[in-house]
Amino acid sequence: MKHRGVLIAGNWKMNHGPAETERFFSALAAQFPGGRVPSIEGLQACILPPALSLQAALIHGAQVGVQIGAQNVHWEKSGAFTGEISSPMLKDAGATWVILGHSERRQLFGETDEGVARKVTAAIAAGLRPIACVGETLEEREVGMTLEVVERQVRAVLAPLAKQPGFGAIAYEPIWAIGTGKVASPADAQEVHAMIRGLLEGQSEELAEATRILYGGSVKGDNAEGLLSQDDIDGALVGGASLDAAGFSKIAAAAEKLATMAAAAAGLAERAEQG
Ligand code: PEP
Repeated sequence: MKHRGVLIAGNWKMNHGPAETERFFSALAAQFPGGRVPSIEGLQACILPPALSLQAALIHGAQVGVQIGAQNVHWEKSGAFTGEISSPMLKDAGATWVILGHSERRQLFGETDEGVARKVTAAIAAGLRPIACVGETLEEREVGMTLEVVERQVRAVLAPLAKQPGFGAIAYEPIWAIGTGKVASPADAQEVHAMIRGLLEGQSEELAEATRILYGGSVKGDNAEGLLSQDDIDGALVGGASLDAAGFSKIAAAAEKLATMAAAAAGLAERAEQG
């Protein structure tokens, strides 16, 4: 098993109001024996609904063993910021995670590396676990700028993430793979994840060891295993496939299978060592 643990996070974007949220979690419970996402050590499932559905998700998600998070925060704690929500408010409401700097926020709402870093800092200060999103556009990939762009975005959040190694995560989401059905090959994703791991290591070994790096971009039940079996892919940030309980449970099941196999291999190795 990956010693950092595996996180499967579902980004619902602007989908599923409170009633649909309740229906989703009932359908999710029906996917698993015992009505809960398997609680294999180190495997965590999380859903990030729209803010309006947060309470419904907290109530129903808890029964299924799923943590709940949000899709954005403001960097201030409170004040005259109409339409915004702060990290302490989300923490108080019971949220565990928050996605920050998703490409849709960067592209459609003008978020910058600096703004994302401020949000990561604010989230950590409030005890909310940030998932900082990075990723290149198709044009940037085609001109060979992938590593350069991702490095710039990761460097912006290294210092805040280093304040509490392992508390936050990074999601590598190539923009050309988001919602397009075009998934990065496991080898291409691994190349970028390894580069990100190296940047974390440059900050501190502890940060590199503890930080989960998720892959996002058209992850589905049938491609999750190949991606999650890569050395530096510690989970998935899932958009479209997380809207449907069957789709999300297939990805969680792939993660469970890998975790079970790895735990069995670790057990065998330990027994062999003991003689
Ligand atoms: C996302 O929006 O974070 C995402 C990865 O979407 P999808 O899985 O639909 O590509």
